Amino acid sequence: MGNRTLAIIKPDAVGNGNSGAIIDLIIKAGFKIKAMKMVHLTRSSAEGFYAIHKERPFFGELVEFMTSGPCVPIALEKENAVEDYRKLIGATDPANADEGTIRKLFAKGIQFNAVHGSDSDENAINEIAHFFSTDELFNNDSEELIKNER
Ligand code: ATP
Ligand code: MG
Repeated sequence: MGNRTLAIIKPDAVGNGNSGAIIDLIIKAGFKIKAMKMVHLTRSSAEGFYAIHKERPFFGELVEFMTSGPCVPIALEKENAVEDYRKLIGATDPANADEGTIRKLFAKGIQFNAVHGSDSDENAINEIAHFFSTDELFNNDSEELIKNER
């Protein structure tokens, strides 16, 4: 069981001003932020990130959407991170998402669905590496933060 996952606040949610509310829910659910940035994906970066869906009919639209504005990738840490974060965001289509999940609260539909979440430990490692170098990942426990303040 791995303890890391990659979240992305997608361009729809960033554009609608929902980034702060989403980050708040993630932190309150017990995830630690290891790294975070705002980035406007290039076409080739978005195509590479979602290469697993290359043959799907919605691939072109997905790349169009993910390059339509800035997004916020976030590397997260928590025990059982992949599964717990997928539970927090809810089903891909917000119509099927449980009450209180991030997609139920902020997604507009199956495509404009506010957030991404890794679907396996292996993909989480690769997806974190897609956005962050190892020296951009921080130890976000309170003792470490206090040490850094000195
Ligand atoms: P993500 O990988 O972004 O966390 P997911 O794992 O819940 O989402 P996937 O099946 O991996 O769902 O699909 C990737 C993304 O492609 C979805 O989040 C959504 O933005 C888009 N997508 C999925 N299915 C459709 C569809 N039928 N029509 C349009 N867009 C879709
Ligand atoms: Mg997926």
